[in-house]
Amino acid sequence: MRIHAVETGRVRIKKAQIEGRGHGTWRQLQPILSAEWADWLPVYTWAIEHPDGVIVVDTGAAAHLKSLPRWHPYFQFSVRFDIEPEQEVGPQLRGLGIGVRDVKTVVLTHMHIDHDGGLAHFPHSRILASSEEIARTAGIGGAILGYLPKRWPKWFAPEPLAWQPTAYGVFARSARISAAGDVIAVATPGHTPNHLSVVVRDGDHEIMLAGDASYLESTMLGGTVDGVSPDEAVAAATLARIREFCVQRAIVYLPAHDPDAAQRLRERRTVGSQVLVREREPVAG
Ligand SMILES: [Zn+2]
Repeated sequence: MRIHAVETGRVRIKKAQIEGRGHGTWRQLQPILSAEWADWLPVYTWAIEHPDGVIVVDTGAAAHLKSLPRWHPYFQFSVRFDIEPEQEVGPQLRGLGIGVRDVKTVVLTHMHIDHDGGLAHFPHSRILASSEEIARTAGIGGAILGYLPKRWPKWFAPEPLAWQPTAYGVFARSARISAAGDVIAVATPGHTPNHLSVVVRDGDHEIMLAGDASYLESTMLGGTVDGVSPDEAVAAATLARIREFCVQRAIVYLPAHDPDAAQRLRERRTVGSQVLVREREPVAG
């Protein structure tokens, strides 16, 4: 199956957002209070050329994110975007020969601004999202959490993801995206309480489009919770579950902001033995 990594510009956040420092409220304040910026990171969306039609996972950043509400300390002090209109997902898909009507389905891992930023490019697609995640964006509470639902297109009416109690591998809840069940959503709570990931089965391996389940493959392997997950224990449990998934199966793990993700996709490089090395470390130490 052809899968494209589409880089919709770059984002810059604090190191303490990528790797949480300390615990509790202290950890969640560090992305704002810390002065240490990380390097610019890519903002990936994914386009799967599937027999059902093209499936896009996340819609990436958009040029409108270069201007953010100034009253919010996170927007003012903790995040910067570098993206021009032609780098948005729509024009880039057209460059790959994928037209707006070819995209039958869009799946959103969560509703953060660099994942729903490109929604305007998909007026003709079925758009799937977690209804609990959508509910979290509403009102003043949603604004404080950094969601920008006012920037969604007027026509935006996502279809709630139909979760089944059926486990998929180590994941307790799953939802079929493709009719054949070779593209499936799994619940990966942590970064947001209803965050999801999309797994694509392709021959002898699976590709996990992980959204912000972790910012990097290395932080997933290290079990390092990020600086924004509301519940550290839930996030840590999900990272452990993903590691277990990668031990049991051949998984190419692709977070949305990992600078090596596109290369790993090209090579179909699975996490494989790296998990086992990490798992042995505590024993060796
Ligand atoms: Zn996010």
